[in-house]
This record gives sequence, structure tokens and C-alpha cells, in this order.
Amino acid sequence: MKEIKTFNYIPASIVPKNNEFNWWGGNNNFKYNYILINAFHYLNTKFPFDFPKDMVIIGDSGGFQNMTQGAEMDVLKVLRWQEKYCTIGMTFDKPILLSDNENIRKLKQYDTTINAYKALDNRKNNNLKLYAVFHGHNYIELQNQLNIYKEKGDLNKFDGFAIGGIVPLASNPEQITLISLIFIDLIKSYKKPLHFFGTGGGGYGIIYNLLKEIHTNNITADSIYFANNGLYMQMLEGNSLKNIKVDSKNLNSKWCNCDICKNYSLDDIKNKEGPSIIILHNLYHIVKHNENLKNIDENILYEYCKIYYPKFLISLDIINYYKKYGLNDTLIKYQNFKLNPSLNKKSKSLNYY
Ligand SMILES: [Zn+2]
Repeated sequence: MKEIKTFNYIPASIVPKNNEFNWWGGNNNFKYNYILINAFHYLNTKFPFDFPKDMVIIGDSGGFQNMTQGAEMDVLKVLRWQEKYCTIGMTFDKPILLSDNENIRKLKQYDTTINAYKALDNRKNNNLKLYAVFHGHNYIELQNQLNIYKEKGDLNKFDGFAIGGIVPLASNPEQITLISLIFIDLIKSYKKPLHFFGTGGGGYGIIYNLLKEIHTNNITADSIYFANNGLYMQMLEGNSLKNIKVDSKNLNSKWCNCDICKNYSLDDIKNKEGPSIIILHNLYHIVKHNENLKNIDENILYEYCKIYYPKFLISLDIINYYKKYGLNDTLIKYQNFKLNPSLNKKSKSLNYY
């Protein structure tokens, strides 16, 4: 039987203030051995984590922060840091912003490619898996990124590929689904693991679990959703992952009986440990939710989606259409050219980063 690797959710992390509340070595029974950390936060400080040996540590390059926050980072500094601390290193990219014009987009794609090959050529620690990062919001742009990679070297030498810069489109599952399909279609012949930056949360587990039938190598996607919500005392509800604001009105002695929360009292949640407990509760439920998705039959998935994620029904339709008719017809039907911001200036959801 053909082995189908499954989608893995990657928690993008902030440092838990109290070690008791991490998900890799804390006092809880819940263990999850994935994390994404960003070179931007830890490059020049003492490394604050004490990870177990089997932890999968994805090292984001900090390219976005370097570009937008004026940090003085470079390819080799980031590479050496990734070699020291990470399992997988994302190459040092220059993300495309929605406001960038066509020329700037092309220049950034060029620099992203040069940086990726520079990392590959200078890698000293071969235990570090290097993923080449792609940027592009539509077929033409992603094809351009692929062409530059092909011109400048051999993509086969990378251990995987990642796509970044799609977070600003995350409120629109239709667009993320189309971009994901284009990306997969363009690079599927390389048969490498894929990572999607910033879109692992909420209903996106549904998309990636369906895409695994098209791309049979491993797919991962990260998000910081679980932690951001926890910090503001927002709990994700088990089945739906809907946000519930936690306050004294809706707290009672049976406030949550999940594997995390049953270890804590109402007082714990009301005191300063509250956010840490809720962050773990949220991660636990996202991971569990994605595990459940792996076992849901496609017909039932449709019903499930209808109830909990109606916004994502369009993604199911697009992926089914792609499976039947291929990429070209899918892009014609769902009009991917709309993703080019110069053609879509009025869309508010496209207007921020
Ligand atoms: Zn709970």
C-alpha cells in the first residue's frame, strides 16, 4: 500500500514563562515534539530552550523581521545558528509584501534564491535539513520563483521546500487553497517535504489533510494562533476550535475537563498561570483536532466542514476539482489571477501584512 505521510501542525513559539507549562518536557502528560522558533528572536541571546533529543525544531530564518524591523542578520549567521540548534532550517528569504510592485517582487525572489543556494553551499552540518523558501501569490509569480531556482542551481539538493508570505491572505481559504495547489503542482516532481508558513491554525488543518493525497510527502504548517489566543485568555473549544473568552462569568468548577485542564483548579486558571494553562489547552486541542481529521472519511469531512468551518467548504470544492481536472482548469474556474494585488486593489483583506 502507498504510504501517505500526514499533515503535522507546528506550534510557532513564544517562550513559556514557566517551564512547567511547555509541551516537550513539562509536568503534563501531554507531549508534542514539534516547534518552530525564529532566528530573529534568539540569534544574539542565550538559547532559552532545553529540548529533548527527539524534538523536531524548525528554525525560521527571520527574513521577514530582518526586512521589516531592520535587524542586521545575514545568510551565514542564520545558517550557523540553525546548524547549532535546529533540525530543519528555512533559508534566509526576502518575503514579498502585498504592496510590492512587480519589479520589487522579482528582485526579492532573486535575492531569496541566491540566499538559499548560499546556505546550501556553506552548510557544514549535514544533520541540518535545509528547506528552500518560495514566495509568490499566483501562478506567474511562483513559476518565476521556480525558474530562478532552476537557473541558479539544483533544487534536488534541498531537503524540502517552504512557501512564505501567505499569512496576509489567510483570512481567505479560497486563495490559500489555490496558492497551495499551484505550489504543490509546480514542485511535486521533486518529491520533497513541504512547509507552509503561518497557516497551520484553525480550519487550515482541513486543507492540508486533503492536500496530502496530492502531495504524498510530509506536509507541515505552523501558526502562533494557540499562543496568541491563550495570552488573551481565549480558549479554543474542543471540536470547533472556536474562541471562547475566559472570564469569571463563564468559569465554574467544571470549567474544562480536557487532559490538560483537569490537572488544574479554578484558582490556577484565575491566577497568573491562567494564560500558560490556556496556551497548552489550545495546543492540545489543535493537535487533537488535526489527529481526528486524519481519520475522517471524505464524505463525513464535508458534513463536518459544513457545521464547524463553512468558510472552508470552498477549499474542499477546489481540491476536488483539481483532482478531477488538473491545475489549469482549476485556475480558470476559480480565477487565480485575482490574487495579483495590482488587479485587486479594492480588497480590504489583501491590504495588510
Ligand atoms: Zn482544557
